[in-house]
This record gives sequence, structure tokens and C-alpha cells, in this order.
Amino acid sequence: MDTLVHGVIGAALCSRTGLAGGRRGPDPGPNMWWQISDWTLWAAFFFGVLPDLVSFGIHFSMAMFSPNGLDWRAIPRFVFVLYDVTHSLAGIAVVYGLLVWWKRALWLPALAWPIHVLTDVPTHGDGIFMTPILWPFSDRGFAGGNWWEHPSLFLGSWVFAAALWLAVLALRLTRRRPP
Ligand SMILES: [Zn+2]
Repeated sequence: MDTLVHGVIGAALCSRTGLAGGRRGPDPGPNMWWQISDWTLWAAFFFGVLPDLVSFGIHFSMAMFSPNGLDWRAIPRFVFVLYDVTHSLAGIAVVYGLLVWWKRALWLPALAWPIHVLTDVPTHGDGIFMTPILWPFSDRGFAGGNWWEHPSLFLGSWVFAAALWLAVLALRLTRRRPP
């Protein structure tokens, strides 16, 4: 899926403002259904976009300063190595473990990372962009459909993201107010 929708879905599922906050929502929040000061909201968005930022994001930003512009055929090898690490269950297990060991409270927002990868699996087809979920143990993967070739996948992911946020809104609107 596109990088931005990963962030929006991650924030909807893995923040206290999102569904993980249940009916209560983010901490003080007496009336607001969301809180701009909820750090887990921004952290979950960040972990949702992170796997793409630290792989192809690097290639994009380097291409901005290159006279040739962006060339999808000349992606440096190290970008694929980073893509393998950030898009595999083994890579996630190691980095997630280190993150939570460092700061326990990251356990919730950092879950947006594995969710990014799990939702990439059906939205990336066979080929160099297939999600390397079993790396480094196997090159095999599960071929889905490329979201950039199927408008239904692209739109579907945004409809899914919108539905999650509507569910958050419904939870907060139906919560019991303190008397
Ligand atoms: Zn990705």
C-alpha cells in the first residue's frame, strides 16, 4: 500500500487516540474524541511509515538531489537490503524487541510496523517489490496484487483506513459520560 495510508492505518489501530484506546480514548480527553497531545498517535503514524522511509525514502531523497532525478531501475543494492530488513518478520522481531527493551511504552505504537508489513503482503505482487517477509531464511513470499497497478487496492486501502477512523469515532461517541 502507499506509505501514507500505512501511517493512517497504524495510527488508527496502535494509538490511544485510535482503536487501542477503547471507549476511553487518550488520557485526559474529557470531551475531545482525539488529542493532538497524545504522543502514541504520532508515534504510531511514524512506525506505520517507517519501513518505507528507511528503505525507499532514502532513495527518494537522494534522487531529489541527483541531476538524473528518480530512476526506479537504478535502485542501489543497500536500499533493497534495508527493504528486506524492515519488511521481514525476523527483522521486525529484532528491532521491535530492542525498541521495547529500550522504552516499554513503545510496545503499542511500534505495532504499526508489523501491521505495515502484513498489509503489504497482499498488496505487493510477484517481483522485486514482493514483501520479503521470510528474509533471511527464504526468498519466497506470497504474491498479491501490486497496489500501484490496481486502483481497487489503492482505493480499498483508503476506504479501510477511513472505516477504522469511523469506528474510533463511533466508540468515542457511544462512551458513557461521567455524571
Ligand atoms: Zn512497505
